[in-house]
Amino acid sequence: MYDCIILGSGCAGLSSAIYAQRAKLNNIVIEKVYQGTGQIADSERVDNYMGLYGEDGFSLGMKFRQHAETLGTQFVEATVIRIKPSDGNWKVFTNEGNVWESKSIIYALGTERRKLDIKGEKEYTGKGVSYCAVCDGAFYREKTVAVIGGGDTALGDALLLAKFAEKVYLIHRRETFRANKTVQENIRCVKNIECIMNTNIIEITGEKRVNAIKTVSTSGEEKTLTVNGVFVAVGSIPNSALLSGIAELDKNGYVIADESGITTAKGIFVAGDVRTKKLRQVITAGADGANCVLSVEEYLNQRKSR
Ligand code: NAP
Repeated sequence: MYDCIILGSGCAGLSSAIYAQRAKLNNIVIEKVYQGTGQIADSERVDNYMGLYGEDGFSLGMKFRQHAETLGTQFVEATVIRIKPSDGNWKVFTNEGNVWESKSIIYALGTERRKLDIKGEKEYTGKGVSYCAVCDGAFYREKTVAVIGGGDTALGDALLLAKFAEKVYLIHRRETFRANKTVQENIRCVKNIECIMNTNIIEITGEKRVNAIKTVSTSGEEKTLTVNGVFVAVGSIPNSALLSGIAELDKNGYVIADESGITTAKGIFVAGDVRTKKLRQVITAGADGANCVLSVEEYLNQRKSR
């Protein structure tokens, strides 16, 4: 029986692990990907985390992980398929048939990339359609690519791709970007990025691989652009399905909790991007982990004194 099982090894899960080790909680981290560090690994450069200006996301994530490992965190590689209450505790079921029991859970499973749901997207995924510029950008040296979206991820992807590609179309459905102002200014200085605003992508076409996209502007003008690759960066959806029917979720599927991480399910705490919050960043994910462990300690102390 564990004091706490931490689900997920992104920034929130790793921060939880570091704080749980220091609080001497009997804990493990269950992670889907061996040596995972979550979505931070997909960021080329992180400029807004204190003290580590300009660090690439992969290295930053590995530093977090090594910190947890140094403190003795134990990681289990498995996919969680179910969470179930059990006599005041929680059982965690994993894909290879194991069942883990714990007094509490820190749920830090993050989010996954949203799809466009347009013709050609599924067909050409891995054949020119990508959701990770850091992973696939180098394949587009001197090629033409389109990035779809107007948030921090899309603009960051466009900046990265502009280093490899001959031309980058940055296509956004509205008049203004959502991304932070510094990144917006940086985009405007890059000659091989063309911003196409008020425009939606409606189809991805190709033969063996992507060769073009069809777009339509909000005024109804349709265009075909020749591209070799399409990078989709249209936001994220929360990985909260395992808590459906267990803890309260908001209308977008985020797990409802304030900074304490306390959910409506006793003994389940939520940290990181999967929680309802205004700002989803490395620093807020890290803070969530710290706060959750404090909440877990208070919860365990209350149980003891009952
Ligand atoms: P996001 O901020 O939710 O932005 C998603 C973008 O995709 C929005 O511009 C949205 O348009 C657009 N979009 C959504 N659905 C679409 C569709 N079906 N077709 C076309 N466009 C669509 O997502 P994100 O950029 O992945 O960022 C997620 C969170 O991580 C944010 O909080 C962000 O600040 C954070 N983040 C931070 C950093 C950093 O600080 N270094 C880097 C990456 C991400 P609208 O604007 O019209 O809604």
